[in-house]
Amino acid sequence: MEEKGNEKEMDRSLDTPQLLNDGVESHALPILSKEAKNYYQTLFENSPEGILIVDLALGRAIDINPQLPKLFQTDRESLMEGNMLVFSPPNQPDGVPSQTKLREYLNEYRAKRTTVSFEWQFLRGGHMKFDASVSISPMMMENREVSVLFIRDISQIRRAEKILEQKIVELDDKNRELERYIRSNLELENFAYIASHDLREPLRTIMGFSQLLEQRYSDILPIEAKEYLSLVIHAVDSMNEVTSDLLEYSRANSADYIRKEINPRILVENVLRMLDHQIKQEDAVIVLKCLPDLIWVSSSQLAKLFQNLISNAIKFRKKGTKPYVTIWGEESELHWKFYVQDNGIGIEPRHFEKIFLIFKRLNSKEEYKGSGIGLAISKIIVEKHGGKIGLESTPGIGTTFSFTIAKYSHTEEE
Ligand code: ADP
Repeated sequence: MEEKGNEKEMDRSLDTPQLLNDGVESHALPILSKEAKNYYQTLFENSPEGILIVDLALGRAIDINPQLPKLFQTDRESLMEGNMLVFSPPNQPDGVPSQTKLREYLNEYRAKRTTVSFEWQFLRGGHMKFDASVSISPMMMENREVSVLFIRDISQIRRAEKILEQKIVELDDKNRELERYIRSNLELENFAYIASHDLREPLRTIMGFSQLLEQRYSDILPIEAKEYLSLVIHAVDSMNEVTSDLLEYSRANSADYIRKEINPRILVENVLRMLDHQIKQEDAVIVLKCLPDLIWVSSSQLAKLFQNLISNAIKFRKKGTKPYVTIWGEESELHWKFYVQDNGIGIEPRHFEKIFLIFKRLNSKEEYKGSGIGLAISKIIVEKHGGKIGLESTPGIGTTFSFTIAKYSHTEEE
């Protein structure tokens, strides 16, 4: 009976939420003016958090704010009638039964009689789990101590945290991959240096003794042996070439890229002087068009780069056509861009990337001499200047190589 009476009392409080009781003197709620009560009423009704006022002694809800039914996707009545366990899965995410866990929190709250906060998994619409942060605080209301539960949906935060965790793991993996890549690249550079540098000495010895054999014992060596010897000398020769190319490649990587202000026209003219023999031999026409006045580069490396591109432009000529090479450059806000255009054999687009790989060639050595190192080195030089190298080409018509040089690059200080 006693309970019935209390229920009635509470039913009244449901009609008009008695959150603010000016008749009660408590540390939590001082006597409030009408204005202040309205203020608190507004807070209660408009809070983005679900608020539930319960009488723990009676195990009943007294009032809920409009946000709570929205949060649980249910009606006000079901929330008023049910308790927290009705809206929770049997177990919490750590596997502990919800009932056991809730009892522990409530015991803690009863013992402390101050705010207790915890995380809780609820059920929305009866089946959809969602994570929430719950805090429960004591409050005086009409001379009774009641408890206010604030429930905030944190499932979005949890989801974002999970995504973030996943991203961190991914980033960690990528980092490790990058470290492996850098290490293997360094090893490769080191290998290229060792392979090229250290192989040269034994190669020299083999070459020396082979030549000695050829010269001194030419009279007594059978013809077959002489043929073998010339094969050895030829093989050593090509190995020598490979090792010196490798050495050059590894040097392009480890060279100091000290930038200076230079006039690109003067630099290209010097390169053309170096290529004078090839230009004359191939009867090439070289046209120097507009170029920037001053650029900030490692001049020896840039000269090597122009030399590779111009010499290729002359070398890969079409049969029966005079090589015609045009060079020009332009300036933009962040970089300088240069072009070397020829009227040669051209390159099929499917080879555009491949040709920058070390030792990659598209033509036989009999057709066009070379070792396939020039463009690989050119790419390193451009990248060390913070730029990019690329090409446009039409087979049978010609090719235009272009590259950029970043105006403001960290290599400036190197
Ligand atoms: P190499 O000139 O020693 O063969 P590169 O690394 O300079 O080596 O060039 C790689 C390959 O790219 C060449 O063997 C050739 O097949 C192709 N190539 C480079 N430049 C040109 C060009 N201007 N026109 C046509 N093909 C070219």
